[in-house]
Amino acid sequence: MQVTIVPCLKDNYAYLLLSPGSKRAVMVDPGEAEPALRALAARGLTLGAVLATHHHPDHVGGIRKLAQRSPGLRVFGHASDRGRIPEQTEFLEHGASVAVEGLSFRVLHIPGHTLGAVAYAGEGAVFTGDTLFAGGCGRLFEGTPAQMYESLNVTLSALPDETLVYCGHEYTAANLRFAAHVEPHNAAISAKVARVAQLRAQGAPTVPSTLAEEKATNPFMRCDSPEILQSIAGALSADRSPAAILGAVRAAKDKY
Ligand SMILES: [Zn+2]
Repeated sequence: MQVTIVPCLKDNYAYLLLSPGSKRAVMVDPGEAEPALRALAARGLTLGAVLATHHHPDHVGGIRKLAQRSPGLRVFGHASDRGRIPEQTEFLEHGASVAVEGLSFRVLHIPGHTLGAVAYAGEGAVFTGDTLFAGGCGRLFEGTPAQMYESLNVTLSALPDETLVYCGHEYTAANLRFAAHVEPHNAAISAKVARVAQLRAQGAPTVPSTLAEEKATNPFMRCDSPEILQSIAGALSADRSPAAILGAVRAAKDKY
């Protein structure tokens, strides 16, 4: 699978996916139509399908115009997002298979940021929208800390460590500043902070990361770290379950 990053809006990433040799593309989270149409035209491609990770406008805002320009466009999203994702044609449940334009993915329901959030896992990659970011996770707009804990640390964690993680925003540098704040002695974080600073200085994206990198640097996948527990202990009640720890880390990040 060829993956091309298509920057949208201020700091969103859409992704143009192509099976080698194909002239029909798949687009993940086109937050606006114009950059997507330019990326397609530059490569002489037509658009066969959109994979929507969740219903927020900065991820689905371009779909209506793309559907007008692409007759028969298939638009995938979670079943519970019916009515929230424009032009949706496919209503997915956890574990469903998506076979489209020569590419295959498995649907993972990962509620937390929104209740209908899904990831598309396949072809050595996972598209995580605003649920798992490089170095962080999305705000809990609709879901609970327990749901986010399970989505990150059970569902996504089960993918192979070398899986390439493509997330919905370029938030990595800010996320890692917070990660270093709650876990200052984590050498993997300091090393990644330096690497990310270099990439950003060149104007280059910091995605994809890998699941192994996230397990080593992302505080929301490190709720068992003694140093993180120590950093947020003041905000914890008697409940020291992993979900409660994630909730406290998320609350600390909201205020950071
Ligand atoms: Zn969102």
